[in-house]
This record gives sequence, C-alpha cells and structure tokens, in this order.
Amino acid sequence: MQTHFTADQLADPLIAEADGILRNCVHCGFCIATCPTFIVTGDERDSPRGRIWMLREVLESPETITTDTAYHIDRCLGCLSCTTTCPSGVDYPHLLDIGREKLNEMVPRTFTDRVMRQMLGMIIPHSGRFRAMIQLAWVGRLFSWAMPTAMRAALTKIPAQLKQLDPIGGKNAIFPANTKQVKRVALLAGCAQRALAPEINASTVRVLNRLGVEVVVRAEAHCCGALAHHIGEATRAHDAIRAALLAWHDEIRTGGLDAIVVNASGCGTMVKDYGHMMKDDPELAPIAKMVSDACVDVSELIDKLDLESILLPAPVEGRSKVAYHSACSLQHGQKIHDLPLRLLRQAGFDVVQPLNGHLCCGSAGVYNLLQPKMADELKARKLESLDKTGAQFVAAGNIGCIMQLDRDDLPVWHTIQFIDWASGGPRPH
Ligand code: SF4
Ligand code: SF4
Repeated sequence: MQTHFTADQLADPLIAEADGILRNCVHCGFCIATCPTFIVTGDERDSPRGRIWMLREVLESPETITTDTAYHIDRCLGCLSCTTTCPSGVDYPHLLDIGREKLNEMVPRTFTDRVMRQMLGMIIPHSGRFRAMIQLAWVGRLFSWAMPTAMRAALTKIPAQLKQLDPIGGKNAIFPANTKQVKRVALLAGCAQRALAPEINASTVRVLNRLGVEVVVRAEAHCCGALAHHIGEATRAHDAIRAALLAWHDEIRTGGLDAIVVNASGCGTMVKDYGHMMKDDPELAPIAKMVSDACVDVSELIDKLDLESILLPAPVEGRSKVAYHSACSLQHGQKIHDLPLRLLRQAGFDVVQPLNGHLCCGSAGVYNLLQPKMADELKARKLESLDKTGAQFVAAGNIGCIMQLDRDDLPVWHTIQFIDWASGGPRPH
C-alpha cells in the first residue's frame, strides 16, 4: 500500500513503524474471508483490509477522521485471524495498537464509554476487586433499568456463580516438584482468572509438580497488563508490565528460571510481546526481551516433559468426547493450534474440532462487555458449531473463551484441567 507521510510525521517512531507495516499490505483482500466481523456485517469497513485503509487515514490525515472511523476500528476483536491468513505477513496487531493510541487522542469517547473503560481498567486486573464487583453487579442488575444501554448489556455478562478467590497468586509461593526436579518455572497466576476459575491454576501446579517441575509464583506479577492495554489505559498497562518484569527478573537472578508459564493464552500473547512493546524503554527493554523469550504457553511446556509417565492407565470416563475450541490468542496470536489437540488425545480423550474453528467466539478480552451485540452474534455461531460436534465437554486454553462459551449442558474447561483429570486430579466442575 502506498503511504504519503510527511518527513515531520515520520520523525515520530510510532508513525515510522506504522509506515513500514502499511507498505507491506498489498490490498489483496485474502484476509477478508477469515475476519469474523466482516463475516457478520459484510461491510468492508469491518474487515482487516478496510481497517488498514482507515488506520492509514488516522495516521496520515487525522483531520479526515470521523466517529464512524472509530466505530469500525473499535469493532475489531483483535482476534488476529487476519494475521494467520495474510500472505504478506502484515503486522496488523502492532498497526492496530498504534492506530488506536492515536485515535484515542483524536476522537473523544462518550461519557459512558469512558466510565466503563476506566472502571474495567481499575477493577478487573485486581482479582479481589473483580470478585467484589461481581457481587455488586448482582445488586446492580435490580437497577439496570436506570442505566445506559451499554452498562445494561455489560451486566448481563456477569457470572451467576461466585467462586472462592484462587489462593495461588495471592502471595509469593513455591510449589516443589513431586518427583526429581527437572525444571523450575514461574507461573503467571493472572487476575480475572483467579476470581472466575481458581481451578485452572490449581490444575496447572498439580500437573507440573507431577512432571517434576518446581513452580514459583510471584504476587507482584499479578496481571500481564493486556486488558488495560487493549482498552487504551496506557499508564495502568505500563505499571502492570513493569511490576511483572521486575518480579520475574528478580526471580531469574536469584533462583533461575527455565521458563515463564502462562495458562491464559490472551495473557501469553501479551507477555510474548513485551520485548517489542518495551523496546524503547532503556531500563526495561533487556528484561522484557528476556521475559518474552522465556514465556511459554502451558501446553508448550508440557510438550517438553514426559506426559505419558503421569497418565492414569485407562482413559477417564471411558474416553470422553471433547470438542477443542482453539482460542484466537493461542492459534492466531501464538500460532499454537495442533499441540493442545495432541496433548488431549495423548491424555485419552476423543477430541473433535468444531466447524469454522478459526473464527472468534466473541469474548476477546472485554470486547464482549464493550461490543455486546457483535460478541453475542459470534457466541451464538460458535455454540452452534460446538453443539454439532456432539461432544460432552469443550476444552479451551483461555479464560475469556471459557467464560463466554460455558453452559450447564456443555461445560467448558481449560485443557490443563483435562490433563490434570487424566493424571489423577479431580474431575473438573
Ligand atoms: S491479506 Fe494481508 S496483504 Fe492482503 S489485504 Fe489483507 S492484510 Fe493486506
Ligand atoms: S483482528 Fe480479527 S476482527 Fe480485527 S480485522 Fe483482524 S480478523 Fe478482523
């Protein structure tokens, strides 16, 4: 794609980076067919090609920007399906980051939107606050008639069940290996996940300990910063990243780490990108690069260990049929698709894949709270394809998808919970 930035504009390193990305796009349109928002609306402005065009306008001729531009950019899920399809390797996620940052400065958001974003940024990254908010939201539902539409829609997404707050991540802790130690890793305990599904970290620690891995948890690294980053709360995101980097760096210096393990793929995609995000920060750049290089999804770590050695002799519940939902952040963000399927099969499950598995379920961080209509449409389509598999359970590697798709008649659990179950842990619930 041709660009016409002025020399002054190109003096801004972000614009210079965006220019390089934009020039890679040949406007072929291959990405359009795999973009969930385009599939729903059929509007080019809701497609990657259309958005790349608009992002160029945002950066090149900000005076032409309208609220309509912001509307269609905001509707992007950040699912990265387009990056998997693009034959030219266009770095859409970083272009989107740069464009959104500029757009936030140029197009003022509505009062309700601003309040919602600030509230989400303040509450969700702190699991205790988030858990309290769930209780408060139950009360808030009684008064939802008096609230703006966006807030009313967000309240319908609040979980009906309140779980105990996950103790893993509440304080610094070391979980020693059950057998001869083969590795030592740090686990990102996470934020929202600790309030919504405390079983996931418990399963992760049990499985890794059985496999001879010592697991270290640093309480300071309680949130990867992805949520704040994606809703434009830059200072909050930076503070969370800095805290995590310094904690893990300290752990690397003092105890040594073989890996930094993440079991929520949305967070994993973010941590793997720290090196790029912090590249211009003289203090944190080298640490961020080290951390990103050490970051692995939990499935990548298990693949390097002897899973066979800890599995029960017979499949649990007679080889249960499990549909694997491939989270966008795992399959498109981290390019990990076949590995969790293989591990689930090795653990004795009959694994099937839903049709259109490359398409987003509509969760996408807090997208389902900010864009409930589109999120509900994508959720309905995903549930329909999952139903058609005839599976008893669904496995997924990201808490957002788990919360978006979970139903009483078709429970969704994390892949690691299935592996835990197949290696002597409790049946997930
Ligand atoms: S597939 Fe890649 S090169 Fe083609 S229009 Fe989409 S982003 Fe541009
Ligand atoms: S990130 Fe997803 S929603 Fe956004 S343009 Fe790409 S495919 Fe479409």
